[in-house]
Amino acid sequence: KVSTVAFIGLGHMGAPMAANLVRAEYTVRAFDLVPAALEAGVTAGAEAAASAVEAVTGADLVISMLPAGRHVLGLYEDILGAARPGTLFVDCSTIDVADARAVHALAEGRGMRCLDAPVSGGVVGAEAGTLTFMVGGGGEEFAEALPLLDVMGKKVVHCGAAGSGQAAKICNNMILGVSMIAVSEAFVLAESLGLSHQALYDVASTASGQCWALSVNCPVPGPVPASPANRDYRPGFGAPLMAKDLGLAANAVRAGGVHAELGLRAAEMYAAYAEGRGADEDFSGIVRVLREDSGK
Ligand code: NAD
Repeated sequence: KVSTVAFIGLGHMGAPMAANLVRAEYTVRAFDLVPAALEAGVTAGAEAAASAVEAVTGADLVISMLPAGRHVLGLYEDILGAARPGTLFVDCSTIDVADARAVHALAEGRGMRCLDAPVSGGVVGAEAGTLTFMVGGGGEEFAEALPLLDVMGKKVVHCGAAGSGQAAKICNNMILGVSMIAVSEAFVLAESLGLSHQALYDVASTASGQCWALSVNCPVPGPVPASPANRDYRPGFGAPLMAKDLGLAANAVRAGGVHAELGLRAAEMYAAYAEGRGADEDFSGIVRVLREDSGK
């Protein structure tokens, strides 16, 4: 039975996730390269480890929540030798599908077991323990991690073999990125046709144009009071995170020789937006770029 968890990466997501494990009475040994982040974990009730190797030594299960695939591969190189043989490593970072498969192979090659378990739900979901986990790896490993994932999330889906969690995440977010651009273009077209935002919303949100980008995260102020458009596009789901996920989707599209013109175009558009004014905005703020590009 899992009681001691090593948690590596106490950033925006990792710290509140670790806090929920502490609340559920797991012993959490935390490590982050940045002292302030480690401090956030300690405030949440985790024990600070002096290094990732120290955190992992003697732990029953290892969770990582890092920025990108290179960080995860680098971390695993350092810590795999320190864990007990057969320890389960659960990587919750959002990384390339190819990197995730390399992470599995690396861990298994050193006698460990592994799951990729990226999340959606953002910092709000991490704090509330309502994340969605998308999990790739073996069934036994999934069953072993499930009680912990249930503490940090409200929905946990076993998507298939190694890399399938990351695959599900980038496919979902490719739908989201493309649909946000589609909804935003439709609002700008409506403006040029003299059709009100509310009228388009009332029709499309109950007709075949209905989607999350419209009915929950509506990119124009008014129709959905809680959407970021009503607070000057403060995130929410930041444009740089959308750009990152679409970049991972684009890598997989190219690697697989898949014909996905809209996904690739959405990746380009979000990359440009996130590098510019979108750096601190919710991803729905791309509607303002589309409006300006239309000369409005
Ligand atoms: P973050 O940058 O706030 O946190 C990452 C942490 O990892 C940092 O504190 C960093 O110091 C630490 N770190 C990096 N390399 C390390 C190493 N080798 N050892 C120890 N610590 C190390 O990022 P975040 O917002 O918490 O996101 C983490 C992951 O979750 C990313 O892959 C991101 O794409 C994904 N994600 C984020 C959100 C969100 O809303 N922020 C939502 C869903 C998924």
